[in-house]
Amino acid sequence: MMTVQASKNVTDIDEIDLDAPIFDSQAFRLNDQQAAIITTARKLGQNVFAGRAAAYDRDAKFPTENYRDLHLTGLLGIAIPKKQGGLGADYQTYAIAAAEIGRYCGATALTWNMHVCSTLWSGPLADDLEMDAATRAEHERRRAIHYKRIVEDGAIYSQPFSEGGAAAAGGVAFGTEAKPVKGGWLVTGKKIFASLSGHADYYGVLCTEVAEGEKASRRNTLYLAIPAKADGVSVVGDWDPLGMRGTVSRTLLFKDAYVPEDAALMPRGVYFQAAMRWPHMFLTLSPTYVGLAQAAYDFTVRYLRGEVPGTPPVKRRMYPTKQIALAQMQIKLEQVKAIWFQAITEARANPTKEQVLRAYAAQYSAMEGANEIATLAIRTCGGQAMLKSLPLERIYRDSRCGSLMLPWTAELCLDRIGREALYETGESDE
Ligand SMILES: Cc1cc2nc3c(=O)[nH]c(=O)nc-3n(C[C@H](O)[C@H](O)[C@H](O)COP(=O)(O)OP(=O)(O)OC[C@H]3O[C@@H](n4cnc5c(N)ncnc54)[C@H](O)[C@@H]3O)c2cc1C
Repeated sequence: MMTVQASKNVTDIDEIDLDAPIFDSQAFRLNDQQAAIITTARKLGQNVFAGRAAAYDRDAKFPTENYRDLHLTGLLGIAIPKKQGGLGADYQTYAIAAAEIGRYCGATALTWNMHVCSTLWSGPLADDLEMDAATRAEHERRRAIHYKRIVEDGAIYSQPFSEGGAAAAGGVAFGTEAKPVKGGWLVTGKKIFASLSGHADYYGVLCTEVAEGEKASRRNTLYLAIPAKADGVSVVGDWDPLGMRGTVSRTLLFKDAYVPEDAALMPRGVYFQAAMRWPHMFLTLSPTYVGLAQAAYDFTVRYLRGEVPGTPPVKRRMYPTKQIALAQMQIKLEQVKAIWFQAITEARANPTKEQVLRAYAAQYSAMEGANEIATLAIRTCGGQAMLKSLPLERIYRDSRCGSLMLPWTAELCLDRIGREALYETGESDE
């Protein structure tokens, strides 16, 4: 049976010595406001979430208690503008805060990403996109409804996109369809691997608006927040995976689920525009894994120094092979951090080709790098370190899942880098 650390209360988060930040605010030139938000995330992660992570993993249970604490600390509204009651964090600040959460509980960070993106994409990202004045005013009115629910009621949003076909990779239109009816849409379809199923209050579904007799097109993608309690919405299947068990990514079914027009998280055509012009929107799944990479490294340092609670205080740091392995881990970690920090810092509309290729490379580096570091950590620390009483084996399993996240899986990043580096837009060998 695993030992679960007693979790502290959110009100105690100032009480214990904090780990050093993954990105030191002076070294990485973060301002005081950014540093304050990121410190809140680190304190909550280390003092509260770390103690609960083993139980969520063991039982494949959604981290409901963590979401209450994210609401209490304001982090549920991290990317919501201050004037609407949020913390007003930009993309970079959010990404670093998410890495700090991922360091202590991967499943919480990954699901929090789905939630936060509902506000980041409808907020700062949408502000960079083209809309006529009337559409923008309507979008601002609608998103204020969603933001109020989050800030005042602690409403949780998810992002079920995947359908098991080529749509989530960006290849074809989503098979989930939204049929326009008076005042809204009727949504019908199926989403697989829908993290937060049964736990989110709103499912931020990507679907295709269909008109009678017209062919489904990616241009007609809608991004709709469907109330979990709406008629025609159901959660099916079980969830017993290798890692990221607390995400509870079951299957969602929609059968003529009615959603009103105010459910739109983006106006017509704007999601398609975002996918074309703001590609770093898909890099937001990576922060969790940067946190896991740091966690595997931190564990190894402590283990080799004989400082991991629950293990005999035996030092192993004097062996040259251990020192070399740790050096390799540190080099890999710094490589991941460097390219990732650069990519999250330059995220914006209309990035250059070089910036897009770097974003793919950063995603690949974080997703594969986290698992490489965790693998080295297991080999270096040895048998006692991979027992379920310690967090390393969970970090290892969670880290393996990063490469599988569409649309930027590790394989698709390789495909895109190779192709886009060798061909300019419109070029072919015909
Ligand atoms: C823990 C976890 C949580 C998740 N949470 C969510 C969520 O909240 N919302 C959500 O929408 N999805 C979520 N996903 C799903 C994820 O984004 C992928 O959709 C899912 O892992 C795809 O699984 P698959 O086997 O059906 O992939 P397939 O589509 O069968 O692809 C298998 C592999 O083939 C490769 N591939 C796919 N398409 C192409 C192509 N066109 N060219 C070349 N290679 C290709 C990719 O590398 C992919 O990994 C989650 C997944 C995991 C593991």
